[in-house]
Amino acid sequence: MNFSDLEPVFLKRIDDKRFRHVDSIEDADGVRFLCPKCFEKNSGPIGTHGVICWSPDVPQTTEPTPGRWQMKGTGFADLTLVAGSSSIQINGDCNAHFFVENGKVKDA
Ligand SMILES: [Zn+2]
Repeated sequence: MNFSDLEPVFLKRIDDKRFRHVDSIEDADGVRFLCPKCFEKNSGPIGTHGVICWSPDVPQTTEPTPGRWQMKGTGFADLTLVAGSSSIQINGDCNAHFFVENGKVKDA
């Protein structure tokens, strides 16, 4: 799956509760996108929840925690999210577990 299919937006943190959309990865503190597992299950965006991945300089007082990812690449088409294990695991209803690597979403 292409990461760009998940309606991603780059986010700039304002404070713990507020953030705004920005156009470029250089200005971004994080990225929001649709959950790839639920996107597949629902055959699209309707009913699919969002996921936010913040970069390491975003404090732990900003939800969601504790995971933090470095964003590598020039944009959504070649984005890689890097962390200790680099995978993204959602503890919740869907238990999605995946990687974002060079603009592609891969199951972990
Ligand atoms: Zn999900």
